[in-house]
Amino acid sequence: MASSNLLLPPAARRLDNKVALVTGGASGIGESTVRLLCRHGARVVVADIQDDKGEALCRELGGPAVAIFVHCDVSDESDVRKAVDAAVAAYGKLDVAFSNAGIVGSAMCSILETKKEDFERVVAVNLTGAFLVTKHAARVMVPAGQGSIVITASVCGVIGGMAPYAYTSTKHAVVGLCREAAAELGRHGVRVNCVSPYLVATALARQGVGTEDDEAVEAVAEAAANLKGVGLKTEDIAEAVLYLASDAGRYVSGHNLVVDGGVTVVNGSLG
Ligand code: NAD
Repeated sequence: MASSNLLLPPAARRLDNKVALVTGGASGIGESTVRLLCRHGARVVVADIQDDKGEALCRELGGPAVAIFVHCDVSDESDVRKAVDAAVAAYGKLDVAFSNAGIVGSAMCSILETKKEDFERVVAVNLTGAFLVTKHAARVMVPAGQGSIVITASVCGVIGGMAPYAYTSTKHAVVGLCREAAAELGRHGVRVNCVSPYLVATALARQGVGTEDDEAVEAVAEAAANLKGVGLKTEDIAEAVLYLASDAGRYVSGHNLVVDGGVTVVNGSLG
């Protein structure tokens, strides 16, 4: 198994015998999380619309013994249903669902220039997508009496002034979705949490900042950072997801784990 050299020693693994679904798993925060979950012994279904990248990642990790790719547009309920069912078919169950796929949509502009169709596409992916992943994960986790669902929100789900209307609106909304689902599903043993990253260099962030260059994203992030000289990486978000997904976080539910170096407690502006 090609990934065996990536596996941590048994005593260090926190997700042995666990099965995870990661939407938006082909790149950025999702990809880093897929890699970390596999290192901790999980078998992972990578669900994304970028088939080539997702398939290549799964091959690199060791193929179907470790990870499978499923084409899934999270705004399409039948795709989400199939992705959850693929986890059960391939690995027998679903323990962790990381609802992470997201888009930033059109460039930041006045509400007067924000087009309804652009707004609705972001809602369809960021909010409806998270709803569908939560719903279909619950469909298999509730009968099993256990599971952990993690949704990627954002610092833009905590404060305003940093992103386009639709993005900020949907990221606030998924925090509400998380709380509602945590309230219902807790009695069935299923935990639901959010993770809220600060600006971190990915394709989405490059689009948001308006650059092709990760270093330019990092410079913007550092300029507005509260915690200076550290530099947020996608791997830091993956560690937060691992905590919420694993038994280390077994009594944490309905929480929004903000990974922002304190930006949102100081001020909300990226400058
Ligand atoms: P990314 O662009 O690298 O990853 C997003 C992934 O989602 C891509 O692989 C993309 O193909 C996939 N995707 C897009 N639309 C999809 C759809 N309809 N169905 C399935 N997959 C789809 O960007 P990222 O920054 O890693 O984004 C991951 C999550 O993190 C998003 O929810 C984003 O809003 C959130 N986030 C990012 C930042 C940041 O600064 N990068 C900060 C806060 C929150």
